[in-house]
Amino acid sequence: VTLEEIQDQWDLIVVGGGITGAGVFREAVRSGLKVLLLESGDFSRGTSSRSAKLVHGGLRYLKEGRIWLTRESVRARQRLLMEAPGLVEPLEFLMPVYEGHGPGRWALEAGLSVYDLMALKRQHTYYSAEEFSQLVPSIRTERLSGGFSFLDAQVDDSRLVLRLIYEAVDAGAVALNYTSVRHIVRNDRGDVVGVVAEDSETHEAREFSARAVVNATGAWAERLHPSPEPRRHLRPLRGSHLVFPLSVLPVHRAVSFMHPTDKRPIYATPWEGAVIFGTTDVDHKEDLDKEPAITDEEVSYLMESLRFFFPRLDISLSDCLSTFSGIRPVLSEGKLSPSEESREHVVWVDKGLITVTGGKLTTFRKLAWDTLDAVRPCMAGMQLKGKDDPAFAPGPETPPPATDLASDYRRRLQGRYGNHATEIVEGTEAALLDPIPGTHTLWAELPFAAAREHVRHLSDLLLRRVRIGLLTPDGGAGHLSRIQEICQDVLPWDEVRWQEEKRMYVETWTRAYSVPLPERQSVE
Ligand SMILES: Cc1cc2nc3c(=O)[nH]c(=O)nc-3n(C[C@H](O)[C@H](O)[C@H](O)COP(=O)(O)OP(=O)(O)OC[C@H]3O[C@@H](n4cnc5c(N)ncnc54)[C@H](O)[C@@H]3O)c2cc1C
Repeated sequence: VTLEEIQDQWDLIVVGGGITGAGVFREAVRSGLKVLLLESGDFSRGTSSRSAKLVHGGLRYLKEGRIWLTRESVRARQRLLMEAPGLVEPLEFLMPVYEGHGPGRWALEAGLSVYDLMALKRQHTYYSAEEFSQLVPSIRTERLSGGFSFLDAQVDDSRLVLRLIYEAVDAGAVALNYTSVRHIVRNDRGDVVGVVAEDSETHEAREFSARAVVNATGAWAERLHPSPEPRRHLRPLRGSHLVFPLSVLPVHRAVSFMHPTDKRPIYATPWEGAVIFGTTDVDHKEDLDKEPAITDEEVSYLMESLRFFFPRLDISLSDCLSTFSGIRPVLSEGKLSPSEESREHVVWVDKGLITVTGGKLTTFRKLAWDTLDAVRPCMAGMQLKGKDDPAFAPGPETPPPATDLASDYRRRLQGRYGNHATEIVEGTEAALLDPIPGTHTLWAELPFAAAREHVRHLSDLLLRRVRIGLLTPDGGAGHLSRIQEICQDVLPWDEVRWQEEKRMYVETWTRAYSVPLPERQSVE
């Protein structure tokens, strides 16, 4: 559907297609509302494709004494592990303990015991220094006194957003990407009655009416609704990651440690056949309309900790596959350092405009229900339904047709594409059921996503529908001819457009997802 094809009147319009908007969209449809979701760029193009990809309780919150927030997150994690296998998967963490650096054994033992208590399972173990250095053979051993293992979980953040959006669409809702809300429309009494939206590229505009509007625009939220708290405003904080091949940084479980200079937590996390290393936490002063990118200072900060904790690996920046940066929408009085700021979400209600920002991936469902509680007074007769239903539609009643595809891949497809997983494998030629080298992504996912998942530009396909832009050398530049070959029948692009899309993709990747050039040159 296009902007001009869809109907005028909606119960609820959700603005923003990140995890917060997608969660509200999915749950609102479950409650029987007629819902429209509008996203100004591509679905998940904001922070929700640029996170650390953890579904976690947040040991950090526990350290800060935020017991309820941790408990909520641990419960959400446990549910997602049960309800989204293949998308949300358990992840073992290893945390070294060093004499005189970071919290000691007994402080961590206490924290991890509370963490386990919340999950109602004992999931942590202490290892001696010798045992621990066998688990992570390349780790720094100087002053290592031992270490812990514990369990959390990880996710493909973009695919989580997309699964929620497409399940809502399958249930009858409408979602448009590249459609920006210009402003909120109110009547004489100031009550919200709709929005004016426009195609972000052609600028063709339309008005839609709605009984309520949810502003789920993350770091951009104050553009549609200024903070009602005069002293607290959104403070955009950037967090950046480096991505390395597993062969260069061989960690088969996540490793978490404190940065040698400022003692902030840093993670090396195996993900989709590569390793994500981060993150930073700095004020983002750049224009929010430009894609965020890692800076030289952040690269140096991360490389310092990598070299400190993995001294024998001799890793250089030229080994880095890609980088990515996301913006935390944090509500702040501007007095604290970035890492001290609270990460709790806020819900502001203003005559039918419900603004919700600051949520984590992990707790998206709780946030969606808090938002719908605030929407309810605008919807006479609305009943909130399905709070205890599984977050996602159950898998197909009959298993996907027998193929030679290994069960891990089938589970992965089911988790990412839900009931559409079968369409990816059914009748597909064997060569497309191979993984793209260095990743767990099958070639067959590309034509499926290109045909079915609102792909307007090549970057939508390679950075968010699948993640090969992050996971393969040069953003997958070496695969572009094959990608054109297998997707050209399902995308309405002629040769000129294909060449233009490839040029724009390489340009975007180089600007926002590669290692910054001066750093690269200085190590080469
Ligand atoms: C570095 C980093 C690591 C993180 N790691 C984790 C983690 O491991 N686990 C976890 O649970 N959380 C994590 N988080 C937090 C989590 O990723 C974010 O809080 C969450 O993704 C925010 O989602 P959102 O939907 O509110 O915002 P976004 O994902 O930014 O979505 C907002 C959307 O609104 C759209 N938009 C803006 N203006 C308009 C408009 N006028 N009209 C239409 N659309 C508009 C934008 O294009 C954007 O797509 C991390 C955050 C950062 C920065």
